[in-house]
Amino acid sequence: MFTKDGVCDWCKKHAQVKKLSYIDGKANFACKECYDTAKMDVRLYNLEQASFVAQMQSQNTHQQSA
Ligand SMILES: [Zn+2]
Repeated sequence: MFTKDGVCDWCKKHAQVKKLSYIDGKANFACKECYDTAKMDVRLYNLEQASFVAQMQSQNTHQQSA
């Protein structure tokens, strides 16, 4: 629901926006026009973060066992 009055983080226009949450707790707001792009961006970001975290965890495990 685009019920929040705010500024879109993608086109920077003042509009009715919808909140998009990131895996790390951050959030951005997107307007109706940007929402599809925003959803893709957030999905990619979350995938990157997830693989980054997994990488860090495997590195830490490696260091601890060495
Ligand atoms: Zn927008």
